[in-house]
Parts: sequence; C-alpha cells; structure tokens
Amino acid sequence: MNANDPVSILKGVGPKKAEALERLQIRSLGDLLSYYPRAYEDRSRVTPISALQEGESALVQGKIALMVKGGFYRRGRRNLRLLVQDGSGSGLEVLFFNAAYLEKTLSKDKTYAFYGTVQSRGGKLQMLHPSFQAVLEGEEAEGILPVYPLGAGLGQRDLRHFVRAALPLAAQAEEFLPQDLIARQRLCGAAYALRNIHFPEDAQKLKEARFRLIFEEFFLLQTALLQIRSRLEEKQNGITFSKEPYMEEFAASLPFELTGAQKRTLAEIHADMASHRSMNRLVQGDVGSGKTAVAAAAIYQAVRSGYQAAMMAPTELLAEQHYHSLQADLAPFGVKVALLSGALGAAARRAVLADLASGACDLAVGTHALIQKDVSFARLGLVITDEQHRFGVRQRGTLSEKGVDPDTLVMTATPIPRTLAVILYGDLDISRMDELPPGRRPIVTKALQEEERDEAYRLLRRELEQGRQGYVVAPLIEDSPEVEARSACGLYEELRERFPSFRVALLHGAMKQEEKERVMTAFHAGEIDLLVSTVVIEVGINVPNATVMIIESAQRFGLAQMHQLRGRVGRGAAQSYCMLITQGEGGVSAQRAAILEESGDGFVIAEKDLELRGPGEFFGLRQHGIPQFRLADPVRHSRVLYAAREEAQRLLREDPLLEAPAHAALRARLSDCFERPESPVL
Ligand code: ADP
Ligand code: MG
Repeated sequence: MNANDPVSILKGVGPKKAEALERLQIRSLGDLLSYYPRAYEDRSRVTPISALQEGESALVQGKIALMVKGGFYRRGRRNLRLLVQDGSGSGLEVLFFNAAYLEKTLSKDKTYAFYGTVQSRGGKLQMLHPSFQAVLEGEEAEGILPVYPLGAGLGQRDLRHFVRAALPLAAQAEEFLPQDLIARQRLCGAAYALRNIHFPEDAQKLKEARFRLIFEEFFLLQTALLQIRSRLEEKQNGITFSKEPYMEEFAASLPFELTGAQKRTLAEIHADMASHRSMNRLVQGDVGSGKTAVAAAAIYQAVRSGYQAAMMAPTELLAEQHYHSLQADLAPFGVKVALLSGALGAAARRAVLADLASGACDLAVGTHALIQKDVSFARLGLVITDEQHRFGVRQRGTLSEKGVDPDTLVMTATPIPRTLAVILYGDLDISRMDELPPGRRPIVTKALQEEERDEAYRLLRRELEQGRQGYVVAPLIEDSPEVEARSACGLYEELRERFPSFRVALLHGAMKQEEKERVMTAFHAGEIDLLVSTVVIEVGINVPNATVMIIESAQRFGLAQMHQLRGRVGRGAAQSYCMLITQGEGGVSAQRAAILEESGDGFVIAEKDLELRGPGEFFGLRQHGIPQFRLADPVRHSRVLYAAREEAQRLLREDPLLEAPAHAALRARLSDCFERPESPVL
C-alpha cells in the first residue's frame, strides 16, 4: 500500500464508490488520509439512560423494546419511533422523521449504540435522528469515532471503513517539520497526528493531533508567502529614492493637518522608498481615511527624486476622480499629470504616450489602459494601485514591469481583519490607516423592518427637499420569483412615482459601460437627485452632497459590504444617514444591523463580519486563490497563526532557500502544496 495508490485498491471501493470519492477530490489513499473529519462522536463512554441530561450529547447502548411505524410527516413520509431500554430503569424515545428505509435496517429486540443530543419532549427524554450502530452481544463500546463531511453516494460508515483501511499508511507519513520547531512548539509527530485525527485513542491525543495539523496548515502557507516576499526583496537593485523629506514639504502645503495614521503611513513609505529594496506595501484605510493625500505625498517624493509614477484605478470614473484631485494637489508643485483613459481620442492618446515615454510627464493616472502594451515610461519608479481587491496580483505585476523594479503601493478601502491580512498579503508590508480625519460626524444608521419603510422615505424626502442627494441600493437588478429581495428596476419604478418632483435615475451592472458612466457623471454633477442602483456604485466615489443611503434587503448583504456602501455618504460637512431595510426577521440579520448601528469603524466591522460568516465566505477569500484550510481557522486559531508565522520567519532567516538536508522534506511538501511556486496568491 502506497499513498499514491488509487482508492479503488481498497476492499469495498467499486466504480460507484470511487466516483463518489472522486467528487470529494479523493483519488488516492493519500487524499483519503488528508480528508479530515469535521467532528467526532465520543463513544468511549456509554451513559445509562437513567443518567441522561437534557441538552447533552450522549452515547446510549440499549435494546429496541418497541418500534412504531407511521405517523405522517409532510406529504406522507413515514416516521419511525423507537423505545430503547438499557436496563437502567428508564426508556429513551428515538425518533426518525421520513425514515421508512430504516425499518429494514433496525430490528426490534436487538442492541444498538445511539449517539445524539438528548432533548426533552413533554417530560420524556428523546433523541432525534441519532447516529447508530448495531452492537454485537458482548462487544465493547467504541472509542472516539470520526464524522466525515459526506458526499452523494457515500455514507458515514463507508468513509470510516475506507479511512480505517488506509490508516496503516499513516505510519509512513514523512516528518517534514524541522525537529527543533517540533520541540519548541511541542508538536506531535506527523504519523501520530494523522492517525489520531481520524481515529483518536482519546480526547487528549485528538487535541494534540489537531493542534499539530492546524499549525502545519498555517506554517506551510506562511512559509510559502514569506518565500515569495523574500524573492521580491532579493531584487536588491530596487530604486533608492531621495532621503530628503520632500513629502513633508508637500504635506505642509495641504489645507489640513495629517492624521496620526497618515503620518505613520507616510513615514513607513518614506523609509521603504529611501531604502535600496523595492517597496511592496499595502495601505489599508477605511473610506474617507485620506488615502489620496498619502498617495500624492508618495508620488511627490518619487517625482522629486527624478522618477515617474503611475496610479491605476479600477474604473474610468475613479481614475478621473483621482486625476482631478492629484492634479489639484500636485500641479502647484510643477508635477505634470496625465489621464490615460479608454475614452481618450487617438491623437490625444498618442500625445500622452509620447510624454510618458519621453519623461515629459511625471504622473500617469488611468485604468487598465495603463497596462496596455504600447504604454511605456522613461523612468517609472513608483506604481500605485487603488482598490486592490479588484485587480489581480498579476495585473499589479504587469504595471510594475513597465519600470525596472519600481516601488509599489497598493491601496484598499476594504478593511481586512489583521488575521486575514497576514494570510492574504503575507507578501506585502501593511500600513493600517485606522483613524479618520477629525470632525467627521458619524453616519446615523438605523435598521428598519419592511413595515417601517415609510420612515426611510420621510427622511429621504426631507433631505432631497433640502437639495441633498441620495442612494437606494438593492441586491437584485430585476425582481425574481425565486429570491425574496428587492430589485433596482422594481424600486426605480416605485420611487419615480413616489418622488415625481425629483430626478430619479437607475444604475445597474447590466447597463452598458458608457451608460453607467453617464449616469454616475450626472449624479456627480448634481443633475440627478436620487440614484437607484445595485452594488455597482463604486467604492471610492465621492459625492459630498449625498447624505442618504438606503440599503434594501439588507439581509442579503455582508456587513463589510454594507459598511462600504454606507461610506458613499457622510463625505461632506452635513449630517448623513444610512437606513437598512430588512425583510423577514432573523437572529443574524438583527445582530448584523446592530453592529452597523453601533460602529462606524471598518476594521471592527470587518472583524465581526468574519466572525459571523467564517473565513471561507469572507468576501472573495476564494477569489484570492488562498488554499482552503482543512482545520485551521484564522480567527479562532489566530494565536497559532502568529506562532506559525514566527516560526516561518525564523526558519527562512536561518535557511532562506531551504537548502539544508534537514529541510528537504519541507521543501518538497511546499512544492506539493503550492504547485505554482511563483505564488499561491496569483
Ligand atoms: P479615501 O481614503 O476614502 O480615499 P480620500 O483620500 O478621498 O479618502 O479623503 C476623503 C476626504 O478627506 C477628502 O476630501 C480629503 O481631502 C479629506 N482629508 C484627507 N485627509 C485629511 C485630514 N488629515 N484632515 C482633514 N481632511 C482630510
Ligand atoms: Mg480613495
């Protein structure tokens, strides 16, 4: 038996089962062993029925004294009701809904082990749908049994059986973690961990196994990310910008005092730029935290050092907005700024390209248009991308290639919890701008039920009558019979009737790009009062006159996303409002609305969002190409994550290329896990 052998060599795995396993990505015996249980049943302790406590999960072993079929549950499906007795004096009722098929499996007067949660129904103790197993006379109660995530055509018993059959292989599991690390972190060995994650001998051993495997998942990813990063840093021929404090000179010219967070971020950027290594820095800042001023200061530093800079935004409108504010800030210092947009005519475009290639122009602001083949720079030294999550790492890279190892700065308005940032951006240094400029008024936020909709409209009318603008955002473009949610098109019709004296416009993703931009530009210019839209309204769009944001069917949005949407208002001096309208009630909806009502801090909200939704679902984690962890959870196991990161750093300090013979197994394991050694984050 070998880890690479196909599962079909196991007894009981025919073509059907092999196919079912394949659907779970299990092809080899090795795959099978790395298919970890999602939970366990502790059958190591049998509880007498007379000692059962309501609410606990327990293992009961007893005879089926009574078996009642029938009782109808929805559309004539049959229930099965059992009375189980174990000689302790009491009986336990066991109930299966819609389970006529069990009539043949279970037999009266035979002994079974039932494992489930004990409930109390009218004074009687009951288990609903417990798992069960026949117990042969005199057979010992089993230990802790694994509970695997199941797929179609595969039962719990199948998986247990197959894994048990492959388990001897665990003994051959190669130890790939360095011995000193194992000793320092008090980890158990690889073989031990693998055996005990499936069929733990006792609870303590299970704990040791889990700890080791969680550590291992974090450690492998951190090591891979740090290696990418050191490969980037190895490019020692990065640009050394001037050490002169030009950016301070620039900052002093701004009409406001920088916040502490802005100052700290600029100091970090200055140090990066002045060093001979390439800068790879992520600036995370909540909406309105003043990232543009930071970008402008960095650009000024680059230009005064004799280099060009480029700033890439995900949409034309954002690019234009950046162009205008950078132009306003930097032109007085003699910096030549150009906008390279897709909307440029051929002649104008040629002129801009010529200026960039000759170096006559210092800063290019644009969209993807910047990374087209015919764009070249005389001496590109600094590359900034805004709203990073919308660009792939590869696009970032393409822009960088237009210079010789330029410094890069990535800006995102999506506050990412610290734990996730470490994982997602392990290849970048991170600056957090977790402070808003003084004097911002918190946005008054209120959650409303469908019936309270009029309250939102009253407020909207009041604001519109004062010459303010507003947004209504819905999750759907058009009404759909399958989804209980409001749509932009539906609301647009409704609101046009309700607010006939105001200019109402519609915006959604199915519209043509030019049409969308026309609407946004008109809204920007104040020619539209109320914009009914899907989530396409851009992050970063700045319309200070907009003071109302109504989020429809709020139950369908993530917290972080609603926070982003809310950030569209509150950008001027006036008090702004955000109304969340929810259909139906639900614990989570109410909980989520309460978080938004209470907090305006994107970092806090992102942490809560992550807690409520779990890391897998947190916005686009999958899109980032981050491998799914099997056991590790960056929130719950953040301490382990940090320990793993420290160990990875220590290891790579000692042996950056993992050349030592003691690290050969680890190196092999890493290339197994991250086939494209270039970057798992690509
Ligand atoms: P974002 O981080 O969302 O891109 P911006 O850079 O657009 O934020 O800044 C939002 C607004 O705050 C702009 O009008 C900007 O001029 C202003 N601003 C930036 N920094 C400060 C500061 N330190 N004090 C006061 N206002 C500031
Ligand atoms: Mg911005």
